[in-house]
Amino acid sequence: MSERKPIAGVTKEKTEKLIKETLAEMPAKAAKKRAPHLGANEPSASPCAVKSNKKVVPGVMSQRGCAYAGAKGVVWGPIRDMVHVSHGPIGCGVYSWGTRRNLMQGIPGVTSFPMDFTSDFQERDIVYGGDKKLEKLLQEADELFPLNKGMSILSECPVGLIGDDINAVAKKMEAELGKLVVPCNCEGFRGVSQSLGHHISNDSIRDHIIGKFAFPDPVGPYDVALIGDYNIGGDVWAAKPILEEIGLNVKSVWTGDGEVEKIGATHQVKLNLIHCYRSMNYMCKVMEEKWNIPWLEYNFFGPTKIEESLRAIAERFDDTIKANVEKVIAKYKPVMQTVLDEYKPRLEGKTAMLFVGGLRPRHTIGAYEDLGIQITGAGYEFAHQDDYDRTAPEMARGTLIYDDVSEFELEKFVEELKPDLVGSGIKEKYVFQKAGIPFRQMHSWDYSGPYHGYEGFKVFARDVDMAINSPTWKLVKSPF
Ligand code: SF4
Repeated sequence: MSERKPIAGVTKEKTEKLIKETLAEMPAKAAKKRAPHLGANEPSASPCAVKSNKKVVPGVMSQRGCAYAGAKGVVWGPIRDMVHVSHGPIGCGVYSWGTRRNLMQGIPGVTSFPMDFTSDFQERDIVYGGDKKLEKLLQEADELFPLNKGMSILSECPVGLIGDDINAVAKKMEAELGKLVVPCNCEGFRGVSQSLGHHISNDSIRDHIIGKFAFPDPVGPYDVALIGDYNIGGDVWAAKPILEEIGLNVKSVWTGDGEVEKIGATHQVKLNLIHCYRSMNYMCKVMEEKWNIPWLEYNFFGPTKIEESLRAIAERFDDTIKANVEKVIAKYKPVMQTVLDEYKPRLEGKTAMLFVGGLRPRHTIGAYEDLGIQITGAGYEFAHQDDYDRTAPEMARGTLIYDDVSEFELEKFVEELKPDLVGSGIKEKYVFQKAGIPFRQMHSWDYSGPYHGYEGFKVFARDVDMAINSPTWKLVKSPF
């Protein structure tokens, strides 16, 4: 990969000075702990020098969530034909209800369940334990929603602290109901972020689902699974047709708009295609070890990365697929050129800063660059070293990298680097808009999307242009 062209005004020295000045304004103890998590990018450095996956420094206003969010919100919640029980007090289930835009097919409440099922713990459940209540709840849920294909139990904080045994309850109820009942010990106090919730969920898929089912149709040479696409704003529905157009047979999707029995039959596919490495690499590795299924990371953000990915996918198959890939690339080239002709002249030379979860800060860079936008700073809430190693070569020398950035740090960095766009989450959006800086939500796609695939890039380009070139930004300062 060739190194990114330098960005005007961005140098290693300037970035390091900015980090130093920012840390100097913090209490000494916090500054010391935060220092290893901030750095100036060195594209060829491996490992990337920025430290990650460590505990939050108390009181700094981290933007992280918890393991329950990583498990229920990210991995389990999108499986459309299961009832997902938020087990514990009312808060976590309600706050996470319908807020992540993992769209799903089906009839809500009948064949799909984008709802909040909760055991709504009271004090007596803390005192006497919640296992009995959980049994009753699972029974009731199965009676009231008989078309569910299984249930998951997602533990919230108290469950693990009071010594409940959801694993025993799940085993008992699975036998009694004759249905999948999957326990997931994803209490929010475990780990340091959403990330451990992904891992715990992957492990519960390993222990309770994978290998238990078979695809109804015969196994073929072009069978693949889409791993780590959560169908935000319809991303899966924009990505899957491309793979089908090149002749692949997408047998299951993990987990956006996913169906549990297909997920459980994924050990029969020929190749796992993984979009979100952070949240699903664990199960790809399990399937590789146990069933010898290779896996390949790909990136469907923006035409350049889509082309690269399609060619890399083709390399794993025969000449038929290779020829199809070239046909598909040729077919969409003029379509993408129309998009670029319209938006690139309006965006060329702009800069953006990104702060998202565990994948997008690196994965969306290509799509911004297709539009002529350079990334001056990027960081993750809960990435690990292997994610940062994949990020360094995607960014120009001297750009700013921040791990688990605090609200104070991010504000300082944005104030100094003055990007034309910030792409981050809902907790950041209004802060930067009030400062007169265009903002796009890079988790929820700002209620837009899809952004994956060729269809997605059309929407992405329009949205980024709409944000940056909105006339609103000229009206932030009063004329008086
Ligand atoms: S940290 Fe605990 S209480 Fe908070 S959302 Fe996560 S599981 Fe719920």
